[in-house]
Amino acid sequence: MDNRLYLVIPCYNEEEVLPETSARLKEKVLSLIKKGKIAPDSRIVFVNDGSRDRTWEIIRELHETDVIFSGINLSRNRGHQNALLAGLMTVKDHADMVISMDADLQDDINAIDEMVDKYLSGIDIVYGVRSSRAKDTFFKKATAEGFYKLMNSMGANTVFNHADYRLMSRRALEGLAEFGEVNLFLRGIVPMIGYPWDVVYYERGERFAGESKYPFGKMLSFAIEGITSLSTRPIRLITGLGFFVFLVSIGMLIYSLVRHFMGATIVGWTTLMVSVWAIGGLILLSLGVVGEYIGKIYLETKARPRFIIDQFLHEDA
Ligand code: UDP
Ligand code: MG
Repeated sequence: MDNRLYLVIPCYNEEEVLPETSARLKEKVLSLIKKGKIAPDSRIVFVNDGSRDRTWEIIRELHETDVIFSGINLSRNRGHQNALLAGLMTVKDHADMVISMDADLQDDINAIDEMVDKYLSGIDIVYGVRSSRAKDTFFKKATAEGFYKLMNSMGANTVFNHADYRLMSRRALEGLAEFGEVNLFLRGIVPMIGYPWDVVYYERGERFAGESKYPFGKMLSFAIEGITSLSTRPIRLITGLGFFVFLVSIGMLIYSLVRHFMGATIVGWTTLMVSVWAIGGLILLSLGVVGEYIGKIYLETKARPRFIIDQFLHEDA
């Protein structure tokens, strides 16, 4: 076995960080090669996710100056998850192990050493887990942690405080390739692959340049996407709620009949209004959830490609 390491980095409008990121990653990879832990033909692969700035040009220049850098250009912007998947699926036949990470290097690259060590000791999937979020703003921290809790309570089991910084062996990637779903939520799917896994802790830093490409709105839709593409628990909850409302309505029926025969019927306008609104709200909510899943079925039946690759700049050793 050769222990060829490939780093996969999705990039969306990252012209400000790429020069620095590429230099730091190259240094890291070279040091690992020197220590003999990874093969000399290891690679750093940037996936350009339809950036509107000079990102792809920079990646091309990097590849021309040094073959350690590879580039994948997507035909248009498909979002972080699809870009990452495109990268993983493209390199899986070239690499023995792949580490995915963000372009802004908020995830400490020194954790790579430990990930590789775990791989060498026979682990297939190594999750990078943030030991603290001291550098994140309060808002980002609260929303991000709320996000994990919401996901888990809704049946989408993910590793707490693990984003997409992880090492996967080739056979784990082959396992991932078997998941044919279009609405792919990597963080939830990867634990389903199985195989020996472990965790590496690291401190999450600040973005050293540029701004976040994950504003609150995107994060929220990411959470909804994650929950509805991984589990059907929301439907269960709705069913349970419907059952509960039905029980309450039986109670109400008995209660109003008793009141009627006692001759104490007062036309309760308030009760009526309240129940009309409550039931109306429940129906709307249920329709919304059901609609969400129907939307998913619709998209899955179309079996659209998850990404289309325009170009793959790469040189095998
Ligand atoms: N990204 C991407 N496509 C997008 C949005 C983001 O490939 O549509 C990449 C981005 O370039 C970065 C990673 O996803 O490498 C994470 O984005 P960011 O650092 O902005 O998110 P945050 O750390 O703020 O959650
Ligand atoms: Mg970031």
